[in-house]
Amino acid sequence: MYDKTIFAKIVDREIPAEIVYEDELALCFRDAQPQAPIHLLLIPKKPIPRIAEAVAEDSSVLGHLLTRIPLIAQELGIIESGFRVVINNGPDGGETVPHLHIHLLAGRPLQWPPG
Ligand code: AMP
Repeated sequence: MYDKTIFAKIVDREIPAEIVYEDELALCFRDAQPQAPIHLLLIPKKPIPRIAEAVAEDSSVLGHLLTRIPLIAQELGIIESGFRVVINNGPDGGETVPHLHIHLLAGRPLQWPPG
């Protein structure tokens, strides 16, 4: 048994989110505190806590998530201008929600290295 995360509640429509893409395995919605003009979170509906806990049987859903990114980027018109994908993991990684999520940031030039 696990405590239901805020993202699992978004999957189950228990709390609202601005959803931009959904299929049987994945959900993508706008980050509530955007760090760029476009800031999306792409999550597996299956609640994998973090990338450090992904196992071999998660390979297909993780591959599915990554291959949704060009579709979503095309839809949002950021294929040519570019974007960044980020997965924060654990305390030093800046993870705050223990449900694996891919940040997709776009709409301005992004600095490197990140802070
Ligand atoms: P991380 O720090 O990598 O775990 O990212 C968690 C992200 O979830 C942060 O960018 C938050 O702004 C975002 N977030 C938290 N709660 C919500 C919510 N209810 N709807 C949308 N985004 C959220």
